[in-house]
Amino acid sequence: MGKLIVQKFGGTSVADTDKIKNVAKAVLKEKSLGNDVVVVVSAMGHTTDYLIKMAHEISQTPSPREMDVLMSTGECVSIALLSMAIQAQGHKAFSMNASQIGIMTDGVHTKARITEIKTEKIRKKIEEGNIIVVAGFQGITEDGEITTLGRGGSDTSAVAIGAALKADRCDIYTDVDGVYTTDPRIVPNASKLKSVTYDEMLELASVGANVLHPRSVETAKTYELPMRVRSSFNTDDVGTLVQKNIDMELCKPVTGVAVDMSKVRIVICDVPDEPGVAAGVFSTLAKEHISVDTIIQSYAKLHNNTNDIAFTINKTDLAKAKELFPYFSKNITEDKIHVDENIANVSIVGAGMIDRPGVAATMFDTLAKLNVNIKMISTSEIKISCLVDADRANEALKALHKAFNLGCDIIATVKGDLPEI
Ligand code: ADP
Ligand code: ASP
Ligand code: MG
Repeated sequence: MGKLIVQKFGGTSVADTDKIKNVAKAVLKEKSLGNDVVVVVSAMGHTTDYLIKMAHEISQTPSPREMDVLMSTGECVSIALLSMAIQAQGHKAFSMNASQIGIMTDGVHTKARITEIKTEKIRKKIEEGNIIVVAGFQGITEDGEITTLGRGGSDTSAVAIGAALKADRCDIYTDVDGVYTTDPRIVPNASKLKSVTYDEMLELASVGANVLHPRSVETAKTYELPMRVRSSFNTDDVGTLVQKNIDMELCKPVTGVAVDMSKVRIVICDVPDEPGVAAGVFSTLAKEHISVDTIIQSYAKLHNNTNDIAFTINKTDLAKAKELFPYFSKNITEDKIHVDENIANVSIVGAGMIDRPGVAATMFDTLAKLNVNIKMISTSEIKISCLVDADRANEALKALHKAFNLGCDIIATVKGDLPEI
């Protein structure tokens, strides 16, 4: 019996009309295997960047609602053109945007979360023999407002649709042929991973491996939907499988390394050492939907009974955060708040680091030998991140990749039939 496969094609894969015709071929190849296909697409090339640039030429602080109305247009162009390309090959295709499907989200503009996906209309159109072409990235609220899921969010649209339709697999087609031990554009001898666990991929994506949107991995994990990262330009390659378990015995301590240049650090000095001050800072940010990553509070300074609190947020939230500084706490004056934009997070990730001593020491030693200063450290069971100066970050990444023996000399292309999941 045929399977139901969700395919997702990113911006570079649909950058021009020739590439869209190429995507149509990849879609029809999957269909020719006897499978039903739902395709999710992003905006063409750098369309979203261009739309954002235009908005900022008009206003320094464009309204998030209007940003969503604007940004969602990019994906609408792609679905119409891809449907036409499939139809031009003599097959039935039907394009659908988020409101036509019912991709329901909360109302947090520019970073909305999916709450429900209605499946009736998609199923009906599949039964009629159509390939369904869906606009990624966008959603709709109960009130009919257009939302978007955050940059790179089409991956999450694809996985959420796959989960809602109980698809057999979700294939994320992109401009690299799989998940590598690190970004192959920064470290050319990065090795391609045959498979990676949901947990590792979630950590990697969250600390800067932007080959997948973190929430897409979170959703795939929740619904145990197998995902593959594959090449749009070489569809014979089976890519990297993201799944529940891999053979732990084969694990190296570190599976991958990543760098994240998208953060800024905020340091608040001389915070009175008393209950409620941290709550004031972080609840003020949370009310405006600003996520905080690493948080460090220093020991109380005995001479004046104060702490320092440092944390990181996304650069895109900085303007809003600055507006909130006066509301953090009556005890925090603005001259005590410092912003450091010249930072980057370098991280190592691997399920194999659990119960293996020495991994952190190797990381710190590698950075020390480069004379790279560590400004903040954060850890989880399978991740260690160090905040460093942005201009040293790529150098640090390369050294860590080497220190944990992640490189390979030949990048193998794995061709052949997809292994059964
Ligand atoms: P798309 O437009 O298809 O969504 P993205 O630009 O979002 O593509 O993601 C693909 C890019 O992710 C690659 O071009 C690569 O530079 C980058 N990348 C970062 N980390 C990794 C990694 N560990 N493995 C593969 N690619 C990575
Ligand atoms: N077009 C959107 C972006 O550029 C969504 C995506 O590509 O996943 O962020
Ligand atoms: Mg992407």
